[in-house]
Amino acid sequence: MTNLNFNCVQCGKCCHDLKLPLTHAEAIAWLRRGGTVEVLCEAIPWVTEPDAADAQATHKRQRSFPTQSGNLSIRVIVVLAAGFAGPCPYLTEERRCGIYVDRPHVCRIYPAEVNPFIALAPTSKKCPPEAWESSMPFMRDNKIVDAQIQLHTTLLRHEDQLDVPLKARACQLLGIQSASIANEGFMLHRPSNATLLAALEASLIDSDAPGSDWELATNQSATLSVLHQVGARPVYIASNAEGASQYLGFRPDSPPDAAIA
Ligand code: SF4
Ligand code: SF4
Repeated sequence: MTNLNFNCVQCGKCCHDLKLPLTHAEAIAWLRRGGTVEVLCEAIPWVTEPDAADAQATHKRQRSFPTQSGNLSIRVIVVLAAGFAGPCPYLTEERRCGIYVDRPHVCRIYPAEVNPFIALAPTSKKCPPEAWESSMPFMRDNKIVDAQIQLHTTLLRHEDQLDVPLKARACQLLGIQSASIANEGFMLHRPSNATLLAALEASLIDSDAPGSDWELATNQSATLSVLHQVGARPVYIASNAEGASQYLGFRPDSPPDAAIA
């Protein structure tokens, strides 16, 4: 059982260099304020339905929508994220949040984890050691102590599920149909702010499930080969290629032979 003490020292490090995950409503608000939002897509091959008792599979199912890549059944997870290098556009010179009352859920719960299957590890967080040397209880027996953080974590998980059909519809409206393979990287799409805002607003009115055929992007030749074999629609794409779409691979590029590509 994990017990952790923590007290924010207001260093501002958690407000820098982020892809800040936003709910559908938060993304609309962020865009209406003039901010930039990116669309990250990852796909999970979903050939057979996992056992209902598999809590982790249930969590993934609730966060994703079913679709196809060629002959392969997949589920796609879409994350809307405010991306910025350096400080958040709303971080003030006094290292305060300039939209404190309206700040996203994920800002309210930091450094707690949203994903219930990821254990909170201080070394994976931006908070300096002195924040963890506090005498204030933060986690007791693996449970977050603060009621507000508990509340916003619950709300965030709930909204994440409710947003799935809205994000699916928005992708359809935007013509976004390429995703990474989960745990290999992310396929990142950058529609213009105006185009994305219009699609997110339209998805509130009409959120029919898409019947599209997704392309699966990978920077791994072995993955490309397997996806070809199972009848999916794969494409090799090198990491960090510039453009409206970008592949963010977790591993170095492993290009395929020209014959397979
Ligand atoms: S919205 Fe506020 S709390 Fe969240 S990253 Fe920006 S400045 Fe920090
Ligand atoms: S990085 Fe941690 S200690 Fe620093 S402002 Fe963010 S939550 Fe507080």
